[in-house]
Amino acid sequence: MKGLPSLERAVVVLSRFPGVGPKSARRMVYHLLRRGPDAIRELLDALEGIGARIRSCERCHNLSEGLLCWICADPARDPTRICVVEEPSDLLAMEKAGLFKGVYHVLGGRLSPLDGVGPDALHLASLESRLSDGGFVELIVATNPTVEGEATAHFVAQLAEPLVSRVTRLAHGLPMGGELEYLDESTLYQAMVGRRDFRRD
Ligand SMILES: [Zn+2]
Repeated sequence: MKGLPSLERAVVVLSRFPGVGPKSARRMVYHLLRRGPDAIRELLDALEGIGARIRSCERCHNLSEGLLCWICADPARDPTRICVVEEPSDLLAMEKAGLFKGVYHVLGGRLSPLDGVGPDALHLASLESRLSDGGFVELIVATNPTVEGEATAHFVAQLAEPLVSRVTRLAHGLPMGGELEYLDESTLYQAMVGRRDFRRD
């Protein structure tokens, strides 16, 4: 491959994407080459579009093409319920689930002292200021069920509790189709701790 440095460079750049190793990166490059210059132009245009137009929503820090993202700009959303997530991709996952009709706040990551990510690195000040403005009846903490996500959840809950009457968090559900014996113990532990009454709802 020494004779094709451009190809190798493309493989290196693509293999930096999450979930893409050098092997898949190479397949992507060959696929593009097979499809020809038009396919490459189309990809470049799309990437230029996100580089030039996509920004952070000035209210919730979701990805947006305008000052406000499509959720903050939607008058049909319930402005009294706010769901706090780590990343825009988590927001999309919640939207796909389709149950939540309120608004969001995207933290931009999770607390991770070992990696130097402290509270100041996350969008916590803007969350506090939104909550201080009042009007929220419930805040749902929907950080990821990881060690850092849990620490972040506790931090957010502490910040929110004096400002919002009800602070809730996602139940740690057992995966559908899973069998108890194959679950890792922390999942089962959290499911046990988060158990709720059978006939509630
Ligand atoms: Zn927004």
